[in-house]
Amino acid sequence: MLVDAKEVMIVPGYGMAVAQAQHIVCEITKALRKRRVNVRFGIHPVAGRMPGHMNVLLAEAKVPYDIVFEMDEVNEDFPNVDVTVVIGANDIVNPAAQTEPESPIAGMPVLEVWKGKTTIVLKRSMATGYAGVENPLFYKENTRMLFGDARSSLDAVFKNL
Ligand code: NDP
Repeated sequence: MLVDAKEVMIVPGYGMAVAQAQHIVCEITKALRKRRVNVRFGIHPVAGRMPGHMNVLLAEAKVPYDIVFEMDEVNEDFPNVDVTVVIGANDIVNPAAQTEPESPIAGMPVLEVWKGKTTIVLKRSMATGYAGVENPLFYKENTRMLFGDARSSLDAVFKNL
């Protein structure tokens, strides 16, 4: 799917930090860009456990700055995205923030990944994230779950690329 895509959006969260998957993410990004796939990163302001957490990890892995975007810069582009890869993120991509007024995260801005053509979510289980709430994204028709430690999963993806 990644190789056939024209537009790929990578959305990292706390799980990318836990898995230390930023370096393999960078390798996959390079491989896709070589094949002329447009790869961008969409960064939520509270992704991870401290402000700027994702930006620090991506910079450490030497992901080029000009393909790393803030949420507001990319949120309207999802309908044009062929494959979104959510790496260990949960609350920041939860549509319930918009649809469930009683939810603890109601009103929190979220990355609208479900509007993309296909979304792949990398995590180890169906467990909740920081806010402890269910995520309806995982049950949508255009979502695929890739279970496992994000680094092991992405190592396998890179080998195939
Ligand atoms: P979340 O905590 O919502 O979700 C992270 C997900 O990563 C989990 O559901 C977990 O699922 C998965 N994960 C954990 N380890 C791995 C692994 N090794 N491989 C693959 N997946 C893994 O993180 P988000 O970044 O989406 O959201 C941040 C949350 O933290 C928000 O609720 C925010 O408000 C809060 N917060 C942020 C702060 C900040 O300054 N950035 C400060 C304090 C709180 P599983 O267990 O199934 O693998």
